[in-house]
Amino acid sequence: MNIHEYQAKEILSSYGIPIPRGRVALTSDQVERAAKMMGGRCVVKAQIYAGGRGKAGGVKLVHYPEQAMEYGKELFGRTLVTNQTGPEGLKVRRILVEEAVEIAREFYLSITLDRETSRYILIASAEGGMDIEEVASKSPEKIHTLQIDPFTGLRPYQARKISLALGLSGSVCEDCVELLMNLYRACQEKDCALVEINPLVVTKAGWLMAMDAKITFDDNAVYRHREYPDMMDYSQLDPLEITAGKYDLAYIKLTGSIGCLVNGAGLAMATLDVLKECGGEPANFLDVGGGATREKVAEAFRIILQDHDVKGVFVNIFGGIMRCDVIAHGIIEAAGEVNCTLPIVVRMDGSKVEEGKRLLRESGLNVQVGDNLGDAAARIVKMLG
Ligand code: GDP
Ligand code: MN
Repeated sequence: MNIHEYQAKEILSSYGIPIPRGRVALTSDQVERAAKMMGGRCVVKAQIYAGGRGKAGGVKLVHYPEQAMEYGKELFGRTLVTNQTGPEGLKVRRILVEEAVEIAREFYLSITLDRETSRYILIASAEGGMDIEEVASKSPEKIHTLQIDPFTGLRPYQARKISLALGLSGSVCEDCVELLMNLYRACQEKDCALVEINPLVVTKAGWLMAMDAKITFDDNAVYRHREYPDMMDYSQLDPLEITAGKYDLAYIKLTGSIGCLVNGAGLAMATLDVLKECGGEPANFLDVGGGATREKVAEAFRIILQDHDVKGVFVNIFGGIMRCDVIAHGIIEAAGEVNCTLPIVVRMDGSKVEEGKRLLRESGLNVQVGDNLGDAAARIVKMLG
């Protein structure tokens, strides 16, 4: 689960990490008023669930409140496309207005989960700012990493080693040690999958400050934090993802034309592989999980049909816990409602398979039943040919 930069900064601030003074605005009027509060010279920042805003024109240093308002007008409602949003971009609905800070040096800092070792890993670099991806690929030796042992936690000497590696000394180095300890505590207590400060800066006046912040909460821990659902900005999510979330369905949008309804993550992966091998391009996949009901299957099918890129549907279900006739009923219900004329190819196997196939054949839908996975995949690809 993602949150906005201003929310991430509020969390960091509550852990004693210094952030610039700022205000969130929902209208260009508010942008102007906030800019006045900051003394005129300020930074106007589009709040979207993605980084890379600086290079896409979503962050601007302005000198007067009127200038801030003009820029706010330009930004509100605009769809920002950055190197992290994908081609469809994200709409700007909230703007953060912050006091302008005189920056002396920029650093990169993050704590994230390393799936290979199942541990938090701290990543830091003295080459922070907007080109961190380039630094990582061209000069990886400039990136310092530290695996954190969950038993001992982050130790002050480790934090000091990182601070020294960043080239810090004296009181700023000690401030950085404290900041790292606090950041780790925030990461753990808030169940984060990622906390990132890029850039962390040393100001010209010699203070450490988080100029940008990104936090991703671990979805599996959201239930432990009652306040998280209210922090969500639904305008930043794909409406189909929101619906899928409500019904506890895993929906992933892809770029092709074949909608895929499957049960189980492993089968989903295999389905995508086989489709690709036959020359097909999946538009999405929707995993209904192990023990779905007829209603859940129907909802899943509805979501797939609402994806405008879908030109045909491929259903690949293994009926174990799930019965094939239940699946068939769900498909028929959802497709019937919207008079679906798209080609549908079904591969099913397992319990009540004959009954499921019979129901589909007699449904009057534009549906074909494949003999096996390979055959079914080849059919849907051919039908969309
Ligand atoms: P991102 O591009 O989405 O990661 O957005 P950031 O919040 O990181 O902003 C992009 C860049 O704007 C930063 O790397 C800074 O160099 C610059 N920036 C942000 N706030 C200030 C500020 O108060 N003063 C100055 N001089 N630069 C700033
Ligand atoms: Mn940034």
